[in-house]
Amino acid sequence: MAKELRFADKASQSMIKRAAETGIDTVWDRYEAMQPQCGFGVLGICCKNCSMGPCRIDPFGDGPQVGVCGANADTIAAEVAGSMSIFFDVELIYCIDKEGVLRSKEKIDTVISKITRKSYQEYIRTRIISDGMIPKLHNAFRALDRGVKQIHIIHFNALERFNTNEMAGTTITES
Ligand code: SF4
Repeated sequence: MAKELRFADKASQSMIKRAAETGIDTVWDRYEAMQPQCGFGVLGICCKNCSMGPCRIDPFGDGPQVGVCGANADTIAAEVAGSMSIFFDVELIYCIDKEGVLRSKEKIDTVISKITRKSYQEYIRTRIISDGMIPKLHNAFRALDRGVKQIHIIHFNALERFNTNEMAGTTITES
């Protein structure tokens, strides 16, 4: 598409055209030069927390699943969300292949809708929460410690409708 056609109004069109003729870079030129932009940061799985990085997790392929220090995608996402919480109200969403944290591993209708720090300890003690869900929740509470408002654990198919009023999955919250 010709650069000047990106604007509806004539003045902007002629400005872009004139910039191109005189060799002046615009935001559009710099955006084009940046393509393809890295999707790792958009997914929250790119970490620059220390000088051994930046590290990024490959969410779909056979690439690295942990950073140089051993941090996995959950840890990196929690740290990124925690850092953003200094400036913004942040909610962190972990997408998994289950409907949320389940009371009974094989029954999708046993989603625990809310887990607090206190109930988490009880779920661990009674082994309702075990195995790989423990480090995920550990990361979730670490994010809470760092100021993240809430953490949601949802099925990845539920992500698109998550911003509607329809609550899904498990919410991790202070109380
Ligand atoms: S993943 Fe670990 S090693 Fe890589 S930048 Fe982050 S903190 Fe450093």
